[in-house]
Amino acid sequence: MKPLTRALDEAARQLTLTSDTARLDAELLMAEALNIDRDKLLLNPPDKDPPKRFWTMVERRAKGEPVAYITGRRAFWDIDIHVGPGVLVPRPDSEVLIASAIAHFEGKADGPGRILDLGTGPGTLLLAALDLWPKATGIGVDSSRRALSYASANARRLGFDDRAKFKLGDWADGIAEGFDLILCNPPYVAEDEELGPGVAEHEPDEALFAGPDGLDCIRRLAPEIPRLLNPGGLAAVEIGAGQAAAARPLLERDGLKSSIAKDFGGRDRAVLLTRA
Ligand code: GLN
Repeated sequence: MKPLTRALDEAARQLTLTSDTARLDAELLMAEALNIDRDKLLLNPPDKDPPKRFWTMVERRAKGEPVAYITGRRAFWDIDIHVGPGVLVPRPDSEVLIASAIAHFEGKADGPGRILDLGTGPGTLLLAALDLWPKATGIGVDSSRRALSYASANARRLGFDDRAKFKLGDWADGIAEGFDLILCNPPYVAEDEELGPGVAEHEPDEALFAGPDGLDCIRRLAPEIPRLLNPGGLAAVEIGAGQAAAARPLLERDGLKSSIAKDFGGRDRAVLLTRA
């Protein structure tokens, strides 16, 4: 057995207690430690010992730290988002917002021209959308300076700095224009809800928790959406798996019509709003 294969087996074994995706985690950490793509690691593994830092990374992961904080990045839709402690790691669940936007604008003469991302974190949804619609421009808002410094660095690295503006702020306060696409992954976890291993310990509370039922932020931003959404546009707001029935009536107001989008695991994951 090649030394790298043996090391991956051993690391995956060590990580099974802390992670549901132990093997994947080990592969991502190994690829990062070797500075190669995971595809290359799997298809054509170098015949050498794992670098020492691999085991340091495995140790950090075994203590619950998210893989993305250790590697410094996370793939989201077609782009890589750089992240670190203090910002929410992009989740595959949120990709349903991007898939819904693609479906909404498919077959229309134009994609979204103006995009707003409320609670952009490291720029996740805005930058994935700017990557898909090269003529679009947009604004990402967040109340965390740290998140916005990641977001601007991500925009620069991806070559979108002339199309993405970031604003420190409280939801849509001070924003007066209309948008064709509004994306929002607000905090929506109820105060006493259990999260996945390591999430509450390592990721920022202010990006996760939103009051006793998890709906405080949605209550706060729901009244803003009607005035911000252009005719023909789409707003997609992420919700927790059990929140559709409660969140929908909050968001469907002032002439907006709503539907629910499911994530790739088949759970309710977003409220989609259009003008009726
Ligand atoms: N889906 C995330 C989790 O359960 C929560 C993200 C959020 O509140 N926006 O870890």
